[in-house]
Order: sequence, then structure tokens, then C-alpha cells
Amino acid sequence: MPGRILVVDDVATNRLILKAKLSTAYYDVLEADCGLKALEMAQRELPDIILLDVMMPDLDGFEVCKRLKSDPETSHIPVVMVTAMGSPQERIQGLNAGADDFLTKPINDLALFARVRNLMRVKMMFDELRMRDSTSREMGLNDFLESLDNSTDEPETVMLSPPNLEVGRDWKTSILETLDVQVIGTGSEREALNLSSLELPDAYVVNQEMMENGDGLRLVSALRSKPETRQAAILFVVSDGKVETAARGLDLGASDYIMAPFDPNELVVRLRSQLRRKKYSDRLRTNMRDGLKMAVIDPLTGLYNRRYATQHMTKIVDRALSSGGEFTVMMMDLDKFKLVNDNYGHDAGDFVLKEFTRRLQENVRGVDLVARMGGEEFLVVMPDAGRFVAEKAAERLRDSVERDLFHLPSGEELKVTVSVGVAIGSATNAQPDDLIKQADQALYKAKEKGRNLVSFFASAA
Ligand code: GH3
Ligand code: MG
Ligand code: MG
Repeated sequence: MPGRILVVDDVATNRLILKAKLSTAYYDVLEADCGLKALEMAQRELPDIILLDVMMPDLDGFEVCKRLKSDPETSHIPVVMVTAMGSPQERIQGLNAGADDFLTKPINDLALFARVRNLMRVKMMFDELRMRDSTSREMGLNDFLESLDNSTDEPETVMLSPPNLEVGRDWKTSILETLDVQVIGTGSEREALNLSSLELPDAYVVNQEMMENGDGLRLVSALRSKPETRQAAILFVVSDGKVETAARGLDLGASDYIMAPFDPNELVVRLRSQLRRKKYSDRLRTNMRDGLKMAVIDPLTGLYNRRYATQHMTKIVDRALSSGGEFTVMMMDLDKFKLVNDNYGHDAGDFVLKEFTRRLQENVRGVDLVARMGGEEFLVVMPDAGRFVAEKAAERLRDSVERDLFHLPSGEELKVTVSVGVAIGSATNAQPDDLIKQADQALYKAKEKGRNLVSFFASAA
């Protein structure tokens, strides 16, 4: 999955070296020789990753990074700073400017490629999520969802798997000093795995060597492959200079690594940026899931809507055709429902619709399709049900509404009835639209005959 990388450095030789390395791995390399040019190219070309030199004559790397990260057009592009010194202060300054990682000159190939692969993977995931999110945004769903969103910002959970208790305490202290998170410490690899299914941490800090001979790399890989923990951020801790192990950690799925011993600030800043990223992707994912749901679910009753129902009916029909069996299509409409609204208010009307839905669902099978077609009109489709089954089912549904009074939240009691129209589908009468029309005609007849009745569509045959 190669991609496009923008290399920014004022020294031509440095650009050349990086370009040569990256090209051999089939990355498409763009170049900029100063900070301003970098900003302009980032805007215009939207590369997948930016490798950014720190010392440049016009704008230094920190400033360029800050500007990239504060522009919504470019803020999602990962930035790796390339530095000569790599002092802790410099790293923290870079991380605070929004950098995703550092490489020290001369650049170690292993570290370079592991990091580039890792960032490319994350970037592609975000691109995909952002694309789907913008689709639902265009459909106007996000605003609606945000208006519904009443989630309180719960503190995030971080799980620590340190090399020993003492180091664990130090990590915990530094984290709690700055971040508003919950911290869980674990004593072994097994405990970390078991606890992670229960606590669902947002982020992990995993040391390469864990207590009781635990293997950090194995834990990283296990966390990445389990569905419950797959989306969490993982910060992998290796001893200073162990580039190969760090690279392996990234390839196995760590989101970031840090080399010990480290400045506590660096741990906190890296963790914070991982948590931020996690939160953003969670948000995109939830929007997308809710967006998909919204497109097919009626918010008042939780039933499928007309769009989904007509779509799904074609599947039921196909199955019925291939098995040669019959199926039943019912249209139901609450009787004199307008009066409920008029006499008790719209909220009472909504309540009746919900209670009606509950009774409906109690009296159908799992395989049956129940949908709200609009207003107080509902559709039930029952696979493998001919006239005999349909008669019983329709009568049971009608009776379940009439039998017991509806108890409104206000304390008032109310008699509600429903009329039902039924059509039977078969190999020779299989068009969903036709069947819905037939059921509608039967429903109309039930209304005419006095309501609170079941009526069957009478075919010409
Ligand atoms: P009929 O027996 O002939 O079906 O009479 P009806 O009063 O049930 O039929 P009509 O179509 O005249 O009125 C339907 C009413 O349903 C009017 C509308 O205000 C109400 N309604 C539709 N959707 C909702 C809803 O989501 N909530 C509430 N509370 N009322 C709704
Ligand atoms: Mg009605
Ligand atoms: Mg109506």
C-alpha cells in the first residue's frame, strides 16, 4: 500500500538520500526545500505523510508542523520530524507542535520504514472513516446525531503493563499529574489480557518485557487481533537504541513507541496525542454506525422504515420463489388514531404508537419483518406463511391491541384498536409493490366494514 510522502529539507543531499530510500520501497516522493514551500505543497498535494526537517532557514520545523496541524485541510496528515540532535526537550517541543514521531539523523532504515508503514496504515484508516463521515454529513445526518448526542465525556482508561512495580508507579504518577484519565496497572501478560476484555481501555502502555516473563510484543499482537481491543491505542516501550524491537512493535500493531529511559513529559505527551486520535476515530465510527442505522430505522418505534422494508421484502420474495412456498403481507392501520392526538395530545399519541409496536413484536416470530410505513401504518411480512397461518396471526395481532387497555403515562386508560389487511404472496403473485397494494385494499375494506377487523384481499381467482 505505498503512498505519497513529502520530504522537507533545506539541504539537497538530505532530500536525495531520503528520496532514494523511499523510492526503492515504491513510495511516491515529493520534495520541498523550505518551510513555506512545504506548507504550500502540503495544501496542494495532500501527501499521505510528511517528513519534516527541524532546522530550516525560513520557518523551522516546529512552526511548519504547528501550522499544518492547525489547518483543517492538512491537520490529519501525519508528520515525522527529522532532527539532528533528538534531545528530550526537542522531542517534547515537536510533540506539542503536533508531530507524530521523530527520526534522528543519520536515519536508520529500519526505523524509517517501520514508522512510515505504521503511519500509512493509520492514515488510510482515517481517510476511509473521514470519507464515510463526509457522506453522512452530506446527507445531513451528523447534525441530527450531534443534537441527540448526550454522552458525557467520561474519563478515558489507560492500562499499564510495566517491567516492574516500581516503574509502574512512576508511570502512573506522571500520567495522573497531567491527564484526567483512569489508570489500571497489571502485573503480568495474562492479567493484562484478561482485564482488557473487562475494562476496555482506550490506551495501553506496554513494556517490551513484562512482569512474570511476559512478552510485550506478544501482548501488542494479541490486543490488535482481538475485536474488543482492536481500536485501542498502544504505546510500546523499548529500551533505548532497540530500534529493531521498536520497529517490530509498530509492525505488530503498536500505535507508537517510546524509548526508555524517557522524560515523563514525553510519555504524557505521546499518550495524550494517542488518546486524542482514538477519540476522533471513535467519534467517526459512531457517527457512521448511527448514520447507517438512521437510514433504515424509525427513531420513534425503533422499527425498520419503509425504505428498508421494501428493500428487504424482495429478499423474502426471492426465497419464497426458490422454495415454492407462500408468504403473508399485512398492512395495519390504527383506528381513529387522530382522535388520540386530539383528545390526549401528541405525546400520548407517540406513546400509543410505541406500545402498539411492543405488542406487535410480542406476537410475531423472529423471522417476520415488522416495519413502520409512515404515520400509524405498519407492515408485517411473514415468510413461509400461507392463508391458514395468516388468519391466525392477523387475528392474534388485532386481538393483542384490543384486549387490554393502553395505560398512558398520565394515568388515563384508553381503548385502541387496529384494522388489518392481508395479502398472500406466492410464485404467481410475487411483486412486493403489488402485494402491498393488495394488502392496502384489504385494509380499506376492513375500515369500511367498521374497523377493528381483519380482511383478506380477494383475488379474481
Ligand atoms: P382511520 O381509522 O380511518 O385510520 O382514522 P385515523 O384517525 O387513524 O386516520 P387519519 O389518517 O385521519 O389520521 C392519522 C393520524 O395519525 C393523523 C396524524 O396526526 C397521526 N400521526 C401520524 N404520525 C404520528 C406520530 O408520529 N405521532 C403521533 N402522535 N401522531 C401521528
Ligand atoms: Mg388510522
Ligand atoms: Mg392513516
